[in-house]
Amino acid sequence: MPHRTIIEPFRIHSVQAIDLPDEATREAALERAGFNLFGLHADEVIIDLLTDSGTGAMSSAQWAGMMRGDESYAGSRSFYRFEAVVQDLTGMAHVIPTHQGRAAERILFEVLVDDGDVVPNNTHFDTTRANIEHQGGEAVDLVIPEGRDPQADHPFKGNMDVDALRATIEEVGPERVPLVMVTVTNNSGGGQPVSLRNLHEVRRVCDDHGIPLFLDACRFAENAWFIKTREEGQAHRTPRDIAREMFSLADGCTMSAKKDGLANIGGFLGLRDDDLASRCRNLLILTEGFPTYGGMAGYDLEAVAQGLVEVLDEHYLRYRIRSTAYLAEKVAAAGVPIVQPPGGHAVYLDAKALLPHIPPHEYPAQSLAVELYREGGVRGVEIGTVMFGRPDPAGGPDEPAAMELVRLAIPRRTYTQSHIDYVAEVVIAVAERAADLRGYVIVEQAPWLRHFTARFEPR
Ligand SMILES: *Cc1c(COP(=O)(O)O)cnc(C)c1O
Repeated sequence: MPHRTIIEPFRIHSVQAIDLPDEATREAALERAGFNLFGLHADEVIIDLLTDSGTGAMSSAQWAGMMRGDESYAGSRSFYRFEAVVQDLTGMAHVIPTHQGRAAERILFEVLVDDGDVVPNNTHFDTTRANIEHQGGEAVDLVIPEGRDPQADHPFKGNMDVDALRATIEEVGPERVPLVMVTVTNNSGGGQPVSLRNLHEVRRVCDDHGIPLFLDACRFAENAWFIKTREEGQAHRTPRDIAREMFSLADGCTMSAKKDGLANIGGFLGLRDDDLASRCRNLLILTEGFPTYGGMAGYDLEAVAQGLVEVLDEHYLRYRIRSTAYLAEKVAAAGVPIVQPPGGHAVYLDAKALLPHIPPHEYPAQSLAVELYREGGVRGVEIGTVMFGRPDPAGGPDEPAAMELVRLAIPRRTYTQSHIDYVAEVVIAVAERAADLRGYVIVEQAPWLRHFTARFEPR
């Protein structure tokens, strides 16, 4: 077979029109939103790479499943299908449906995390960190050093630093570490994968100290694909087989079905321990709903059950990972600094390298994200000091985040190659006038998860 273009392994069945607002409209939208792209109306954006969460296109099989949805309050047929798919994938006996991943986190941490506890992770996602801190716990990021260096080349930059994990547990004492988490792929660390070998090593450390291991499993299928294509001895295995081994190493998982569930909403908490599951279910009933629907409609359960099967299809995963790499290669070839190698669901622009004249407390990645919108109506998201920096209570400059990135997250099965070509053109145009970009100040912010609602002004 000649080497041919890796095509989108689907044809388009239903479309939505998109439109680029003119320059004056974009400028007015930025002013109104306080230069926070979360404040834009989606109709003011032409290519929306804010997130890959819940923004993908569902298949006709998923839509058909929705028509079969059983909306019974208790014991819905759709729940049992959902439960069977998740049990088959994870091997976890207890499957607790939630409306999103963060609901699973909130419930799990309310049961497990007490004041003064420490939770290690390769890199906490923003809601994961916030939910731990909300319980009085400390969220500690222990990714390998290569994972903090956007230019370092390593096939598994999401790996946990196993020595640092061991040292942290010994320093604070295992009784103060209620769980260890590993995020696959490592979203906040650049969408970088974790190797099977690393998961085995983390499992060993947890076993040595009697600490349960949880996966933040939102992108388990993309991670499985990276293991298949990058880890020695894994090439012959199916993504499903690899994913099952990943889950087999964990005592539980939190999952947002809005990512590798290929659905627009949903999530779950998977658990092996009976007692922990019953405590979590009690909290579920308090805020999410009865255990056979959690926060989801019967039709949502069907969409997720079908999505969890489709996401492990090799043609899908090959196209998915290739299309992200395609955008990365295009902008990198034009000299735009990005996190290398590209992650699974997103390309991360390195604003620290592109805008060395803007210090972290003036939010270089925010400046870059705003400029991509101004230039071409493309919306990305800041993952830097706005999201992960710490405001100084005394009013001084923020404690900066480790990296200053703009994430361009690719919705699943939504944009075509020409959309992605357009995005690359916009990024390159902004990079060409990087020296003219200015920093921002925050004029309004919330006590946690400030990036969603903060208002900015140009400096
Ligand atoms: C999206 C995400 C979450 C939270 O899931 P929601 O469905 O948005 O609540 C948690 N962890 C990671 C790694 C994520 O990407």
